[in-house]
Amino acid sequence: LDEFKNNNSKMKIGILGGTFDPIHYAHLATAEFIRDKYSLDKIFFIPTGNPPHKLGIKTDKYDRYNMVLLATSSNKNFLVSNVEIERNERTYTIDTLKYLKKTYKNAEIYFITGADAICDIEKWKDVESIFDLATFIAAARPGINQLVAQEKIEQLIKKYKANIISVYVPSLDISSTYIREQLKDGRSVRYLVPETVENYLYKNKLYEQGDE
Ligand code: ATP
Ligand code: MG
Repeated sequence: LDEFKNNNSKMKIGILGGTFDPIHYAHLATAEFIRDKYSLDKIFFIPTGNPPHKLGIKTDKYDRYNMVLLATSSNKNFLVSNVEIERNERTYTIDTLKYLKKTYKNAEIYFITGADAICDIEKWKDVESIFDLATFIAAARPGINQLVAQEKIEQLIKKYKANIISVYVPSLDISSTYIREQLKDGRSVRYLVPETVENYLYKNKLYEQGDE
């Protein structure tokens, strides 16, 4: 991506942040659908390091990061950033966005979230500035009432003059929570996560039966 640093071509970068504990097919399908629909050049997957809202994560951050690498490696438009993983302090989206703006000066940044995350966004640090730095693309998510989400989005647009696009994506009712629960019960997660991720989590004994 160095070719884009400091040059004048307007690159469109999509960001998908998440704990990815573990990454699953809904993350990948949502990212690809949005990349294609909005003609984004690249999607950066950014696994969180020490997010303030999820201090209870048990999985090692490098395991989460490795699984994101494995899951995305076959897509030339998917990149993985370790910017949050390598930060030892708590990580906030605002800092990551500022970093990206500085690094890719002429890029347009599109921050992708599921409907659950956009409804929660006012809890994020410096939410006003976050909206100044990126256009948001909020993907509908099974289990999240789309009318409620839509109302929240309208509110955010008014209150913060935010740029938020809400979009239907092919619905996949998969969550990392569900996958962790299936594994804890000794059940199959085949076809919910890429095979490479499945192999990795078994090999490294993540989310094992009886954990917790
Ligand atoms: P957990 O159950 O641990 O919270 P998760 O499946 O929600 O995991 P996250 O890493 O929390 O995954 O999510 C990263 C981003 O992907 C968030 O913006 C979330 O809303 C979005 N996302 C996750 N699953 C889906 C899905 N099935 N459809 C649409 N968006 C999703
Ligand atoms: Mg989540």
